[in-house]
Amino acid sequence: MDLLTITTAILLGWMVLIIALERLFPYTPGLKLFREGWWLDLVWYTLIQSYILKIVIFDYIIAPAKSALGLAEHGYLSHWPIWALVLLFLFSHDLYIYWFHRWQHNNKILWRTHEAHHSVKTVDWLAGSRSHALEIVINQTIEFAPIVFLLDNETAAVVVPIKALLDAMWGMWIHANIDVNMGKLQYFINGPQMHQWHHANHREVFYANYATKFAFFDWIFGTGFLPGLKPLKYAILKPKEFGLPYEYPCEYFLQHWFSFHRFDVRKVENHPWLKPYIEWQQTLLQWLKLKRKPTATPPETAPLPASSPQAPAAP
Ligand SMILES: [Zn+2]
Ligand SMILES: [Zn+2]
Repeated sequence: MDLLTITTAILLGWMVLIIALERLFPYTPGLKLFREGWWLDLVWYTLIQSYILKIVIFDYIIAPAKSALGLAEHGYLSHWPIWALVLLFLFSHDLYIYWFHRWQHNNKILWRTHEAHHSVKTVDWLAGSRSHALEIVINQTIEFAPIVFLLDNETAAVVVPIKALLDAMWGMWIHANIDVNMGKLQYFINGPQMHQWHHANHREVFYANYATKFAFFDWIFGTGFLPGLKPLKYAILKPKEFGLPYEYPCEYFLQHWFSFHRFDVRKVENHPWLKPYIEWQQTLLQWLKLKRKPTATPPETAPLPASSPQAPAAP
């Protein structure tokens, strides 16, 4: 079995596990699996965008750059063990992500490449996939170029999929709607609690929790935020609202257009040429909801338990 098949199988298994844990121990109760924007995140961001950008990044940016720079084919770090290489690139990339992510939150132009990621109102296993194409090109080029530059092709062909698998697994984990208290471990590694706060539509956390894998970067550089772990004068332990505090398009191409040129979102989404397309996705979502209903609804005679979570109102 080749490495790609193994990593894909692990990722699919991980996805099923995370979804099961979300159902069993929800951080925000009542969230639907087929929630608003799932088609956008799964089809457009996870499948189509990732597939195209992988080709752009590896074949049209990193490979030509390696030959233009005249870097040695044998690779300067190829003699290191694989685990040490993975650890090195995990650490160095997360340090970079911390600072670039922090810059994105503090710079008006760079924010345009990051707001898509914060537009998800339902933070779950799939939410992490929603990232502006430019953000992916910048971050993944900086992530994978050193691996290709410093290793021979054979070693890079092992390290790249392992690193990509860990990224995808960790992305699902920190965005997962799982109520897990990792306690003091969150001084070191990131989990859903800290990242759910990062996605909260609360002014207090707009400049907090930038790290993705190693939480200690936030605690070292003074941007860690987690009520309950670090005593803060904050009334609530869980965020109540997620997403952006302003109108944002719900469609892939409009989201990218919006990052370059601001427009009246409602007016454009209601344009006669676009409305049928946007509504088609909502109809599909509705259909899936209806299809799931018979299994999800208890028998008519059985009363709903008092603690039965209510789904958030559709916007
Ligand atoms: Zn952010
Ligand atoms: Zn996120």
